[in-house]
Amino acid sequence: MSELTIKSALILPMTETHKCFEGYVRIKDGLIENVTEGAPLDDDKNEESIDAAGCVLMPGLVNAHTHLYQVLLRAVWEDLELMPWLRRIYGSAQVLRPEHFYAGSLLGCVEAIRSGVTTVCEHNFLNPSAECAFETLRAIQGSGLRAVFARTIMDSGEIVPECVKEKPDAAFRHIENILAKHDRSADLSFMTGPNTPPINTTPSLLREIRRFADDKSLGISAHVAESKSVVECVQREHGKNGVVEFLQEFGIPGPNSIFAHSVHISSDEIVLLKQSGTSVSHNPVSNMMLGDGVAPVVEMLRQGVNVALGTDGAASNHSQDLFDTMKAASLLQKVHHQDAGVIDPYSVLHMATIGGAKALGLASICGTIEVGKRADLILVDIETVHSQPINDIFSQIVHCAKASDIRTVMVNGEILMRDRKLTRHDEKQILGDARQVHRDLMTRLTSLSF
Ligand SMILES: [Zn+2]
Repeated sequence: MSELTIKSALILPMTETHKCFEGYVRIKDGLIENVTEGAPLDDDKNEESIDAAGCVLMPGLVNAHTHLYQVLLRAVWEDLELMPWLRRIYGSAQVLRPEHFYAGSLLGCVEAIRSGVTTVCEHNFLNPSAECAFETLRAIQGSGLRAVFARTIMDSGEIVPECVKEKPDAAFRHIENILAKHDRSADLSFMTGPNTPPINTTPSLLREIRRFADDKSLGISAHVAESKSVVECVQREHGKNGVVEFLQEFGIPGPNSIFAHSVHISSDEIVLLKQSGTSVSHNPVSNMMLGDGVAPVVEMLRQGVNVALGTDGAASNHSQDLFDTMKAASLLQKVHHQDAGVIDPYSVLHMATIGGAKALGLASICGTIEVGKRADLILVDIETVHSQPINDIFSQIVHCAKASDIRTVMVNGEILMRDRKLTRHDEKQILGDARQVHRDLMTRLTSLSF
């Protein structure tokens, strides 16, 4: 039995709009046992405690869409639109090896932890060999992060190399193998999905994915309407107005589905998302980097669509920093609508915490500070020159705080970083290993032409 009390914190529980108070949180066996204003009355000097004076205590951030290994590919292919960029990303599968996925994913996890992320959704889509997915999972599990592993499928597409095109039955066997070798739990859950329909998925695969997902009780993760070119493809080849409308034909939208991007969607499609209970992962930095466009986040929120936040992979971000993403999400909507009041900071924080948890089917597990939930918590130092003085804590967490302000990170009450020091791993070792596989990957990439 383990007990820990975090005292003297400014608590942002994310349970109701603008609620914050000075208080303490008691954790027992990984669960939040008590959330109370003021100081503990029964202060036990022998009990383990953290003095969090000068810090905000808030739910750990949820990165609802990423590709962790892509930290190895930061700034490799720049200044490209989605399709020529994707041709290179997909093409790299010809030289990617399991060791790249392990070392890259572990470095990605460490970057996530150091920026206050406690849950990641790894949208997995390049598996030149079955071992690649296993190595990604080994890195994630070793990191201590809560995770959703979305093992998605591609079966077509001119820009997709043969080594990652799969027949549905073979792909489903691979996923069944992954499920057989991992316990499904609140710490690690699974999804499947089409990768980027319709540019790399046939209608028959979409039909099969819905059947398989229902059969195995899996959620669905997909890249949806990321750029205009994807919408033009669905119009040209399938006679549909948009990607969401197209996916509706195969029952892909649903309460256990998360659509990354959803940039080029119509108001009718937003209604479809709301009616089906589909969540969206908004990835503003990636969308800006690739010049995709601006997702209709304000319209989706007004319609009651659940919106989460994601970094996307570092090949299009170029980081795993969700604080950067929060600030970008806020400012992008303000400038797009030419209306400074069009989105408020609390809504952005909501997307990065409980919105993400809900999107990943984890709303009863994490995303808020509430009695009975898992202790997935972070301490953010606000005694910094860029955060002081405090006038509006929600705005200042979104617009002033930086990833480097995260002092302590815990998942299930286990401290993964204490006072900026990792507890499970040697950071120098992880960096060294990542540099080594990076050198190997860069050499291998020179053998490809795009
Ligand atoms: Zn992505």
